[in-house]
Amino acid sequence: MDLKNTEIAYAYKTKKELKSALFVYRIITKPFLVKLGKIFLNIALFLRIPIKPFTNFMFKQFCGGESIENILEISKPVLKYKVKVIPDYSIEGASKDENFKILIREVKKVIDISAKDKNIPFAVFKPTGLINPSYLKQEIPADHPELIAYKERMKEIFDYAQSKNVKVLVDAEDYWYQDRIDEILLDFMKIYNRNNVLIFTTFQMYRHDRLDYLKFITEMAIREGFKIGIKYVRGAYLEKERKRAVDGGYPDPINPTKEKTDKDFDDAITYSVENINTIEVFCGTHNEESVVHLVNLMEKHGLEKNDSRIWFSQLYGMRDNLSFNLADNSYNVAKYLPYGPIKEVMPYLVRRAEENSSMGSQAGEEITMLKQALKQRK
Ligand SMILES: Cc1cc2nc3c(=O)[nH]c(=O)nc-3n(C[C@H](O)[C@H](O)[C@H](O)COP(=O)(O)OP(=O)(O)OC[C@H]3O[C@@H](n4cnc5c(N)ncnc54)[C@H](O)[C@@H]3O)c2cc1C
Repeated sequence: MDLKNTEIAYAYKTKKELKSALFVYRIITKPFLVKLGKIFLNIALFLRIPIKPFTNFMFKQFCGGESIENILEISKPVLKYKVKVIPDYSIEGASKDENFKILIREVKKVIDISAKDKNIPFAVFKPTGLINPSYLKQEIPADHPELIAYKERMKEIFDYAQSKNVKVLVDAEDYWYQDRIDEILLDFMKIYNRNNVLIFTTFQMYRHDRLDYLKFITEMAIREGFKIGIKYVRGAYLEKERKRAVDGGYPDPINPTKEKTDKDFDDAITYSVENINTIEVFCGTHNEESVVHLVNLMEKHGLEKNDSRIWFSQLYGMRDNLSFNLADNSYNVAKYLPYGPIKEVMPYLVRRAEENSSMGSQAGEEITMLKQALKQRK
């Protein structure tokens, strides 16, 4: 399988879209432009200056639109090439009751669509979209009314998903909320993942404690007879986490090096495939070596390429070469497709820009592939 076949990778894009993607990548690979853009955005948001005209090019590259209807439209060319989509209503850190209701409503809409359409294989939500995150800190007792209400909101989503037989991914965010979320999701997995996996929690493998936790919950699942769904990612908040650990005077929760994160990610994938009857794997990465690692493991263990327990996933606008070449070779692939009011998805867009500006060679490779695809169109 050639994971760098650019004809397959970008077949769904028009020439104009390819040019626009190249423009975006040229900008976001320049760290000083990203820093400048971030400062400008913060000022514009503070002064309530409309940001849409300045951010539209980024929004179009990495997001599906402002509403679920936009998503369905934008997905059409993607779906033609066997890549599925996961609409992700991307509001973060919402702390008001009315925002929780909006998120629940959006997730339910996705569940309804997914129940009828195999091209939308999962629903997803951010756990901080359902509570004021300050209540997730460990010092707060587990029976605090806000936490009870939080679990009720999650339950509403899981009950609905179960009634429609739709799997749900729960994203992971900051370290200091995650222990509480882990506890809650483990309890839910024990209930909803009895026969099939309904709930996928997220493991950020840049955390040095994740392999031990993986083994701990796998042994528990085998002992107690439930299943686990895990979305594996490396983790998107590296610098913030390191800084917070220094400021807060607690040990850095993140691996000391990128190499250690890479090793933990691949070891977790190996462990999961070895325990595939207990763990379903959602491999969320743009790292080609990790993708090849999982492909090889599947072959080694005699698993079908489209084994329903294993999914590959990349973010919309990134690493199409992996998504579309994997799908072309019959693997299960889904693109995360964020949507929401442009102002609300700004933190997501800023993260993508910062991530790409610090990724150096990987983002450079994206530019090379886009240029090659444009040449092929001539
Ligand atoms: C489908 C999908 C869903 C995602 N969902 C989430 C989510 O719920 N939560 C979340 O946090 N992120 C999420 N992400 C983002 C993800 O965590 C990564 O930030 C992003 O994918 C880059 O990592 P990578 O595996 O693609 O590749 P790479 O480019 O190989 O890895 C980059 C990553 O390596 C780690 N790293 C880099 N330098 C160091 C260092 N010096 N020491 C230790 N580690 C280092 C960091 O995690 C960095 O993001 C998701 C990504 C995808 C594709």
